[in-house]
Amino acid sequence: MSALSISEVFPVTQPAADSVRSGILYVVATPIGNLDDISARALRVLRDVALIAAEDTRHSSRLLQHFGITTPLAACHEHNEREQGGRFLARLAVGEDVALISDAGTPLISDPGFHLVRQARSAGYSVVPVPGACALIAALSAAGLPSDRFVFEGFLPAKAAARRGRLEQVREEARTLIFYEAPHRILECLRDMREVFGGARQAVLARELTKTFETLKGLPLDELCAWVAADANQQKGECVVLVAGWQAPEGEETVNVEALRVLDLLLAEMPLKRAAALAAEITGVRKNLLYQVALERKG
Ligand code: SAM
Repeated sequence: MSALSISEVFPVTQPAADSVRSGILYVVATPIGNLDDISARALRVLRDVALIAAEDTRHSSRLLQHFGITTPLAACHEHNEREQGGRFLARLAVGEDVALISDAGTPLISDPGFHLVRQARSAGYSVVPVPGACALIAALSAAGLPSDRFVFEGFLPAKAAARRGRLEQVREEARTLIFYEAPHRILECLRDMREVFGGARQAVLARELTKTFETLKGLPLDELCAWVAADANQQKGECVVLVAGWQAPEGEETVNVEALRVLDLLLAEMPLKRAAALAAEITGVRKNLLYQVALERKG
């Protein structure tokens, strides 16, 4: 995440005095395909606000037209969001409500809006979520992978080396992993996942959710790669990839990446026995196991 600009830390526009009600910034989710997924509350808010800040005004005007909403739109995308924030805050300052929407789904989730929300909150305005569709949540809800704990990794880097590096970082992550991916990279991405996580790791490709060709396919990564490679249709449309979390091989006691990182930091600062004991206290991993690992690491 890039650093905040001075105007975000010390916003110029301040909420109006008590006598004038400050406007509210509503963060409104819109459908990810099926227009019936818009909520009654979202429609009401979009109708009632003075202005809608939209990622792409042309795209959103079609959505609004469909619902007969005539509220004015103003662009709020990744290139102007920081600079244009003041324009939206000025509307809030005079008591007008503003809605923030993105092209699809929930704003800020791999979409613009973070800077505007941050600016509005730091200037003291109310920011109210109007929840609805979100591809990662829709995918997780139907994937059949553990959903009690999960990690959303967003989009992986486009370049192969950086992408594999990122995957390496989460190779031993025990929680379900969720990624967004562009259709033209889906096969490359699945193949990298197979290399890094191993072909036996269970994964789900959730494609075109809520749309005509919605597909949720769950297979071990080697079979999923082969299935996608064999059918060009599976390399089209929008997709979410979910990967089951890492599990230690049965009967084998292992030390996770975070515990190793802690152990290495401590080994650089203190005697081996003390480092293993302290690392055990910090990470919850068994002391004797960390002692063995520390001996191996010290050669
Ligand atoms: N804000 C959106 C949300 O709440 O999910 C995500 C926007 S992000 C720019 C777009 C990515 O979300 C797509 O590349 C795809 O990975 C995922 N996505 C969006 N709609 C989808 C759908 N209908 N089916 C599967 N994935 C979808």
